[in-house]
Amino acid sequence: MDLYDRAMRIEAERARVLITVKATPQPSEKYGDTVCVAGVRLDGPTPTWIRLYPIAFRYLGDDAQFAKYDIIELDVRRRDGDSRRESFTPALGSWQKVGHLPPWRDRHEVLRDLEPTTTCRLMRAAERDHRAPSLGLVFPKEFRGLEFSPHQPWSDEQVRKMAARIEKESSALIPAGAVPPVLVAPRLKVRYRYVCEEPTCSSHVGRILDWELTSLQNRSRRESDTRLKQIITEKFVGMMCDSSRRTGLFLGNFELASRRSKFSVLGVYYPRRADVFRAGPTLF
Ligand SMILES: [Zn+2]
Repeated sequence: MDLYDRAMRIEAERARVLITVKATPQPSEKYGDTVCVAGVRLDGPTPTWIRLYPIAFRYLGDDAQFAKYDIIELDVRRRDGDSRRESFTPALGSWQKVGHLPPWRDRHEVLRDLEPTTTCRLMRAAERDHRAPSLGLVFPKEFRGLEFSPHQPWSDEQVRKMAARIEKESSALIPAGAVPPVLVAPRLKVRYRYVCEEPTCSSHVGRILDWELTSLQNRSRRESDTRLKQIITEKFVGMMCDSSRRTGLFLGNFELASRRSKFSVLGVYYPRRADVFRAGPTLF
């Protein structure tokens, strides 16, 4: 740890963040079911990635929740024990929603200034250096559809930890009588197959960890497996990857060193091509 890192950990700083990613709650050893929220910091000279973790999102009151493309201000500290340079711990209760960007032109005016990258490049860098970028926006050259597999139920141990966390937090953070049930694992794991823009790319398979996928599965829980797959495909391919859109993927990797070079799809960015064009040709 160098002096700069040490100072960053001690000092809380105020950050202004455009939220772009709400990943699905995953049972966590340490935090119960938490969600990775990520976005772009707007308080520096150029937009930079930031990951906010942990946020026990579903334990927060409605008025404290935020949506994708909200702009929030909050106090953050560098995360102890997480060498991914974008990772910060938010101070619960310090955040305030200060705006929201409508689709798509306003959003693109911010996101077009991110450093362009590819999945191949992110993976190569993560294998070489544990402080390499752990978040990125990539624009696949080609989408090759979805892969489905059964999502295993969570273990008794995972459920027990989530229940313990709800017990601990609910009295302070949610009104009496509004204790949420322990999360149920979604029925399907879903992955995108795609080719990134690297000329030598053969293909990638990226698991979708977008909160929207989990919500969609929850809403469709009474449907058959076949129908559920259709519903997911209609949204994540038919709508999001329509040819009228310039579709990108928000990618993120894992804290665990052995999984650093594996990038999952934390969310989908699907601006209309017309809006991308109007916002300016910086990236395209
Ligand atoms: Zn690639």
